[in-house]
Amino acid sequence: MVAASSAGRRCAAPAVRFIGSGSSASASLFVHQTRPFSLDKNTYSTHSHFIGKHVASVTDAEFATYLDRALGALDTRDYHVARRIRRKYAVRLAALARGATTPGVKPMLKFYFSGLRDTADAATLQPLGVTRVLVDPHDLPNAAAFPHVALDSGAYRAFKAGTSLDLPALLHAATSRAFDMVFADVFGDAEASYQVYQTVKQTLPVTVPVVPVWPWGSDLWRLHRLLDASQIVGIGGLVPHLRRDNPLSDRDTVLAELTALVAEYPGRLHAFGLCWAKALDTLWELLYSADTSHWLAARRSTAMATYVHTGTGYLQEAPWRSLKHPDVESAVTASVGALRDFRPVTWACTRCGAVAPHHQMRLLPAAKRKCACGGKLRGVLPGGA
Ligand SMILES: [Zn+2]
Repeated sequence: MVAASSAGRRCAAPAVRFIGSGSSASASLFVHQTRPFSLDKNTYSTHSHFIGKHVASVTDAEFATYLDRALGALDTRDYHVARRIRRKYAVRLAALARGATTPGVKPMLKFYFSGLRDTADAATLQPLGVTRVLVDPHDLPNAAAFPHVALDSGAYRAFKAGTSLDLPALLHAATSRAFDMVFADVFGDAEASYQVYQTVKQTLPVTVPVVPVWPWGSDLWRLHRLLDASQIVGIGGLVPHLRRDNPLSDRDTVLAELTALVAEYPGRLHAFGLCWAKALDTLWELLYSADTSHWLAARRSTAMATYVHTGTGYLQEAPWRSLKHPDVESAVTASVGALRDFRPVTWACTRCGAVAPHHQMRLLPAAKRKCACGGKLRGVLPGGA
């Protein structure tokens, strides 16, 4: 801890060395504490820049694996560099400290199937191994057989019917069984949503996991207020922006905005009605959870089915007839399976092996997926290949 003082401006560092950075496939970093090194201002800057760049390119698993060791050693040997890294990656470090990221395992979205209108819908999902559903108080009886249920407030149903939120029904339903989450909001109204959240939270026992909702597009300070009050926050009002009747370029713009926001709070947000396969795919490693009734789209006028593209590994959708499903119910079954089993691809440089965040690569055109070394970043399907 006091090692450097007797040597004046000379101290024992650099504390961190890279194994094969540049052309090698290894992306690991290890602590090197033996070689004396003169640390002038320039060296500090070079090191923190280099380490920072490296940290930005690794997966959460790698980040978690070496971070404690590397930063711990840096604290005693190269404090200024450690401090810079800590400041730069405050959000990621906080997530690790909360245990939001398990070393070796990427955080994966908890997907809730919504839109169950009757017990027949429930009977479709159960044999397919689905455990998570999202229903509002009206549809709660359809969810009786599922172990993981999120309770929607009924705000959207009330909005569509032109009525106000049935608060007594929500409070009654919320204590009728155990829920993963109980949402409390007023559709499209940030201030009213906050008031309802406060009321519901104060009324229900503390054991009920009440979750506030931020309407997409409202003031960001309102979102920050909710994130201060609750570990998980729902984002509502996405459906009108992500529906198929919007031009693709508009949907892409909203998705890029949404991705930037969710990336600031990994593992803390739920997206309501994420009705677009590309959005689910992009945000799969960032959101805490999401729901959609899109698995039922084959039965609707759009006649779409969801599937995982065998070449790219992307979650996609197409008219069920073009996917050669024999009938509508086969298309629904296949869509459920795709949403149940989907895992995003991982991205690696074909030359140096450096990895890149999925949510960034998924939104870039192929020509722009380039590594700093000049190589190309390619998606690697889950399970190898
Ligand atoms: Zn590379």
